[in-house]
Amino acid sequence: MKKLTIFGAGLSGSLLAIFLAKKGYEIEIFEKRNDMRLAQVERGRSINLALSARGIKGLQKAGIAEEMLAHAIPMYGRMLHDIQGNLMQVPYGKNKTEYINSVSRSGLNIALLNLCDTFPNIQIKFGYELIDADLKTEIYTIKYQNETFTTQIPHAIGTDGAGSVLRKALKEVLGNEGKIFEENIEFLEHGYKELHINPKAPKSPLTTKGGTNTRIEDNNLEFSMEKNALHIWPRGSYMLIALPNLDGSFTCTLFFPNKGENSFEELKTKEQITHFFEEKFKDTLTLIPDLAEQFLHNPVGNLGTVRCSPWNYEDKLLLLGDAAHAIVPFYGQGMNCAFEDCVFLDEFLEKNNHNLTKTFSEFFEYRKPNADAIAELALENFYEMRDKTAIPAFLKKRQLEHKLENTFPDYHSKYSLVTFHPETPYTEAHRLGNQQDNFLMMLCEEPDEDINSFDLEKIYNALAKLRRK
Ligand SMILES: Cc1cc2nc3c(=O)[nH]c(=O)nc-3n(C[C@H](O)[C@H](O)[C@H](O)COP(=O)(O)OP(=O)(O)OC[C@H]3O[C@@H](n4cnc5c(N)ncnc54)[C@H](O)[C@@H]3O)c2cc1C
Repeated sequence: MKKLTIFGAGLSGSLLAIFLAKKGYEIEIFEKRNDMRLAQVERGRSINLALSARGIKGLQKAGIAEEMLAHAIPMYGRMLHDIQGNLMQVPYGKNKTEYINSVSRSGLNIALLNLCDTFPNIQIKFGYELIDADLKTEIYTIKYQNETFTTQIPHAIGTDGAGSVLRKALKEVLGNEGKIFEENIEFLEHGYKELHINPKAPKSPLTTKGGTNTRIEDNNLEFSMEKNALHIWPRGSYMLIALPNLDGSFTCTLFFPNKGENSFEELKTKEQITHFFEEKFKDTLTLIPDLAEQFLHNPVGNLGTVRCSPWNYEDKLLLLGDAAHAIVPFYGQGMNCAFEDCVFLDEFLEKNNHNLTKTFSEFFEYRKPNADAIAELALENFYEMRDKTAIPAFLKKRQLEHKLENTFPDYHSKYSLVTFHPETPYTEAHRLGNQQDNFLMMLCEEPDEDINSFDLEKIYNALAKLRRK
């Protein structure tokens, strides 16, 4: 079996290594960071993530879905916080069997790395940063501590994230050959900042076993808000969200313009920050007593969409995950999509009898339109979450969808197609989902019409026609 080199032992690189090692490949991974199991976790990068069906499918294939879901918190719907502090829960799925899971990013990455360690044919080199690669000659330049060295790598997979060095190398080699490499990196005018809501004091103290504190058991914890929901404070051009953590805390993320009125640039002092939150997110001030300090201390992250084409070069390189198609986080699908990539690559290798050139090229052809579709869906959901989630017509549409989902088992809303139905490609979820949404919004825009007066059968039949196209 061939040797494959992976750059990046993040979420997709470590899952992919497991799939490939199971197939008998000899895997070497270069990861620029130190081993996160030994080092402090990077601050300011999302602490928890929403894991859903497409990602779970990948974890199932690796054999660790059950373990990860045992450490996840189900989120059954959105909990909307209006400006007065009133709450409204809007379910994600048709019933409590459909939910998304709040998981720890580092917990998940660590579980994948631990699983990698159980394979004798996976070798992970931490602290090794790829600096440059000449794909034609297969010569890679890598930095370890303060030394750089070169090495020849015949077959590589780039899971080195949104700022991928291998994407640059691909652009270079194709350019030198007079071939086209399309690349578009589109940053939002919004950035994000994380804030932390502490758990309430546990009902009973930590128990001690053999001198070490055991994990606080879930039922001992007091969450300061509804635990099983993704909280949203939609405020028009910006929003705050919060996902629960196992230790009873919540990680909030403020998605906020970088510049202009009400922006990161504008909020500079403790007084300005406190005043702004008092006006716009009043209920968070009691939840985060040191809010202004956290705001000043925590970094602002960028949000962008990476689109490029192609993702492959002969049998020498394939880009996968964020390196090929980073998206904005508003559908909670970046990692889920990257895990789905791993599942497809694994299947394509099998189908093509491990011919790498054919596999890389077919993978790109199949996944590219799907990556484009989820990128669009994620951007569209940004506007929906911050502007629309709380408006009456939208809430009415969600009620109508909920009724349809519970009456007709083969009807699935757009959110459900993306999140709970991995058998539906993102391209189809995008096309059908938006057509369904437009039709249902049209029905719900009439303020006086009560959804109980709607002829569900007739609506279902009209929607079924969209599905058959
Ligand atoms: C605020 C925020 C919230 C998010 N929420 C969700 C969510 O709820 N659900 C979801 O599905 N997705 C979410 N995402 C997206 C998700 O984080 C990414 O899609 C996912 O991390 C992609 O995995 P990856 O392995 O492709 O890249 P990464 O996780 O970025 O991993 C890349 C790895 O490569 C390493 N690396 C980088 N450069 C080099 C180099 N030169 N040499 C060697 N190693 C290198 C890095 O150190 C890293 O370990 C969110 C993203 C953000 C920013």
